[in-house]
Amino acid sequence: MSPIDLHTHTTASDGLLSPDALIALAKENSVKMLAITDHDTVAGYLSIKNATRTIQLISGVEISTTWSGIGIHIVGLDFDPHHPAIDTLLEKQASARRVRCQSILTVLEKLGMPVSRAELIEQTGHTHIGRPHIARLLFKKGYVSSISQAFKKYLGSGKAGDIKNQWASLSAVVGAITTSGGVAVIAHPDKYKMTRTKLLRFIDEFVEMGGQGIEVISGRQHRDITDKYAKIANDRGLLASLGTDFHQRSPYYPEVGQLPTLPDDVNPVWSIFNRV
Ligand code: AMP
Ligand code: MN
Ligand code: MN
Ligand code: MN
Repeated sequence: MSPIDLHTHTTASDGLLSPDALIALAKENSVKMLAITDHDTVAGYLSIKNATRTIQLISGVEISTTWSGIGIHIVGLDFDPHHPAIDTLLEKQASARRVRCQSILTVLEKLGMPVSRAELIEQTGHTHIGRPHIARLLFKKGYVSSISQAFKKYLGSGKAGDIKNQWASLSAVVGAITTSGGVAVIAHPDKYKMTRTKLLRFIDEFVEMGGQGIEVISGRQHRDITDKYAKIANDRGLLASLGTDFHQRSPYYPEVGQLPTLPDDVNPVWSIFNRV
């Protein structure tokens, strides 16, 4: 087991545990280094009150962007969360999220499934709405039989509610993270269903923009996948990261910290952290 988990979510985005509850669980699971990487916000990370001395908490965020028409997530680690560069970018992302939320609600209304922003905010406890919040409400209101049905039919890739063109560009995202003193990392590279040629082109452009890392381990994955991304990381001179992408306690997904260790031959991303 790896005592390091650099990709997790809390109630500040679409996770189901509060930041303090996540820290408590991480401690229970013997995590030694943790990054809270909520979608487009550092509010959860900044709200931590019950810091533990046994865990090194790294600043983190997972930023939505698009490249070549594909929705991509970039994790930022070990940056100054108060730096104007990241602050301005996250402010823009939050506003893009508000606009997108409204567009999704309009689509759903046309499909005969009215959901109001007020209901969403009440359920979520904040205004930083993501598709999982909408999916949960569609389920609660009986419009779909499960969260995964909500994605399959209405919110997932290529569906009517999958509206994704308003995010900051990849270069703006990488730029904001690096200008704020952090490391930009390609999140869950195996999720994008790109051909190998396209993936390598994406990685080369990411590196050109100043990107430095890639998740070699993301959640539960086959050893072959780990080896594939370890090799790509080494070939392209990228630092290796790992994380569960924890959102909630579930029998189907690993818990915070439940990960194997990185392969021996990669260069771990924490080797260049300067805030630990
Ligand atoms: P958003 O940040 O609003 O674009 O929502 C993206 C989030 O939705 C991801 O981080 C996942 O947590 C969640 N998600 C994406 N696809 C699915 C799916 N098929 N089933 C359940 N949750 C999903
Ligand atoms: Mn999520
Ligand atoms: Mn993601
Ligand atoms: Mn994530």
